[in-house]
Amino acid sequence: MMRLLDARQRAMLAEMGVPLWMPPPAAKRGAAPAPEQTPAAAPPPATAAAAPVIAPPVAPIMVPPPAAALDKPASNNRARPADVEHMDWAQLRSAVAACRACGLCAGRTQTVFGVGSPRADWMVVGEAPGENEDRQGEPFVGQAGKLLDRMLAAIGRSRQAQCALDAASQQQPPQPQDGAGKAPTAPAPPQGGVYIANVLKCRPPGNRNPQPDEIAQCEPFLRRQIALLQPRIILAMGRFAVQSLLQTQEPIGRLRGRVHHWHGVPVVVTYHPAYLLRALPEKAKAWQDLCLALDVAESGGDGHQPTDAAAAAAAAARKP
Ligand code: SF4
Repeated sequence: MMRLLDARQRAMLAEMGVPLWMPPPAAKRGAAPAPEQTPAAAPPPATAAAAPVIAPPVAPIMVPPPAAALDKPASNNRARPADVEHMDWAQLRSAVAACRACGLCAGRTQTVFGVGSPRADWMVVGEAPGENEDRQGEPFVGQAGKLLDRMLAAIGRSRQAQCALDAASQQQPPQPQDGAGKAPTAPAPPQGGVYIANVLKCRPPGNRNPQPDEIAQCEPFLRRQIALLQPRIILAMGRFAVQSLLQTQEPIGRLRGRVHHWHGVPVVVTYHPAYLLRALPEKAKAWQDLCLALDVAESGGDGHQPTDAAAAAAAAARKP
């Protein structure tokens, strides 16, 4: 119901600059209405006397998102599943490929899951993919990767060795026994296998250092990889790999030269090959670390037996 303003109220609104709409005279209001089909008359001129009372626009109230939402990437609906600790290798690989649990998913070309045989008894853990790894989808490629491969070859280990063996064993059916009832002797594997993975599965932009929240989000994947592999020894390479595995802030220089443990698995720490490329004198220390890892792996007593080549390399490595 329309409420008419008295003269004083109209004067006050006029002082505040609020335009008023004035109803037409009573005689006109009582006149017969125009037929509906007739287009409406031209709108009244925008004079102060004819304009309706219009409430001033109300500025929208901006409600900030909850703090927790700021930490999550926009597409968190594909975040890391909660049951990582029950996954097999294939499930784990798929979960990593689909993971968007931290912001690094936005800049990756692809995830870098790991390389090597799932039956390898050695594991190398690095930090995070770099540019080459991000492009190729494999950890430790480029010059640092080549140096790592040479270091591993020196102790009779290779990322391809056990893989080739696995593939051959999957393709070849069991050999029939010969006439003497004796199965042909399988050739000894040329090298022991090694599985290589990083703490982070996605490349940090500009190869910056991994952030604590990124490590925390990605760590369950590495934990499951170690649990599935059950390696005899873990060689942790680089500060972030070492510190995240051992949950410490101590520098590598103070951690190397002794045996640590990750949930019962022996861990030997050493420098990252990328660092060794820049600090050649440290290569001698890395060699000492490899020899320590060999000793620990051989004396592990967990049922694994070193390959002949690895045992020979270990013996050679310890010669003065
Ligand atoms: S770095 Fe790890 S946690 Fe982050 S998106 Fe990649 S796979 Fe997921």
